Amino acid sequence: MYSALEKYDPQLFELIKQEEARQSGVLRLIPSENYVSQAVRMATGSCLTNKYSEGYPGKRYYEGQQVTDLVENVARHRATKIFKADHANVQPYSGSVANLGAYNALIKPGQKIMGLTLGSGGHLTHGANVSITSKFFQAVNYSVNADGYLDYDEIRDLAKREKPDIIVSGTTAYPRAIDFEIFGNIAKEVGAYHVSDIAHLSGLVVAGLHKSPVPYADIVSTTTHKTLRGPRGGMLLCKAEHAAKLDKAIMPGQQGGPHMHTIAAIAVALAEADTQEFLLYAEQILKNSKRLSEKLIEKGFDLVTGGTDNHIILIDLRRKNIPGRDFAKALDRARIVGNFNTVPHDPAPPTKPNGLRIGTPAVTTRGMREPEMDVIADLISRVADNMGNEEAISDISKEVMELTSRFPVPDHFIIPKKKESPFGCDED
Ligand SMILES: *Cc1c(COP(=O)(O)O)cnc(C)c1O
Repeated sequence: MYSALEKYDPQLFELIKQEEARQSGVLRLIPSENYVSQAVRMATGSCLTNKYSEGYPGKRYYEGQQVTDLVENVARHRATKIFKADHANVQPYSGSVANLGAYNALIKPGQKIMGLTLGSGGHLTHGANVSITSKFFQAVNYSVNADGYLDYDEIRDLAKREKPDIIVSGTTAYPRAIDFEIFGNIAKEVGAYHVSDIAHLSGLVVAGLHKSPVPYADIVSTTTHKTLRGPRGGMLLCKAEHAAKLDKAIMPGQQGGPHMHTIAAIAVALAEADTQEFLLYAEQILKNSKRLSEKLIEKGFDLVTGGTDNHIILIDLRRKNIPGRDFAKALDRARIVGNFNTVPHDPAPPTKPNGLRIGTPAVTTRGMREPEMDVIADLISRVADNMGNEEAISDISKEVMELTSRFPVPDHFIIPKKKESPFGCDED
């Protein structure tokens, strides 16, 4: 796959090889990361990167779109099919700009959005004060309650007081199920639009393991590279009534030419997600997450909300008295990669958070199951017990190398079945 790179840019070739070895030799527990198939990687590396395709299929501003129109139509068709949505826009460059596009489609600058605070697991683009979303729009935030749960009565009360124009549901660090139907009802009660951001959950939603927001939201936003296991990108789904506005908000509203190579890779990932194998994968993500959380509790860790309903586990380190950042760095030296994170209502400043966020999508892709989760919980616990003991950390890192060596990174997951073409021509 890399022969030209090896020949013509040996330094970059070497760096990519080094990263490949790193990804293979560590336990990747960052819940927003995954391993994509070689097919997805082939599509992202394809000649489609050479093509300018501003506009939409059949309505482009440049000629030469005989193939790209088909590529984008296939991606849109597969997206609407598996998410059961009326319309899909597959052009957002990533999740953040997809969210901006959703707001841009529904409201005007100066109007009000209401999303979850950063400290409670909201995303920057849900109106955080450092984000452009709180400069273009007025932003108000809701929080999780003292137990770390979304409190729908509180959210409803705040919505009634603040009268936002958009209510954003969805999070980046919330370990529990989200009731998108209640969010939709609250939005209706106060006359707001409901934008649901399932960047983290989309793979679980496709598999039917988390309630879909599609029936209850005006616009659904997602990344394509987290549990959905596709290339780095973004996607928007909406009801037919919003389709024209949404497309206009993305292009010409805020983007130029779509990344057609990414769109092709999204199409590949959507076909992979439309299989029995993917459902089993998503089920195993949850089984692993549950098992890992139980074992961590046995090892004396406090988890925010006391457990998980999804692929995310948020460890509250206050009782262990280990700073989140130090713990994440020690784990990294032990070849266990997570990220330090705030825990809800953490009195410490956000620069010194007391949490660690981990998750199971990537290790599950490697084929790890419950017995390996027991081992991982033990390894994490031993790092916590050996903070500052670099010899012990080094020993743990060797055990991680041994474990990862038994679960090589797969280059494919399934052979997607031949799909019925919606256009009367063969997609394969
Ligand atoms: C990851 C994430 C995003 C942003 O996606 P990027 O591709 O990093 O821009 C947006 N919203 C939520 C909830 C996320 O978890």
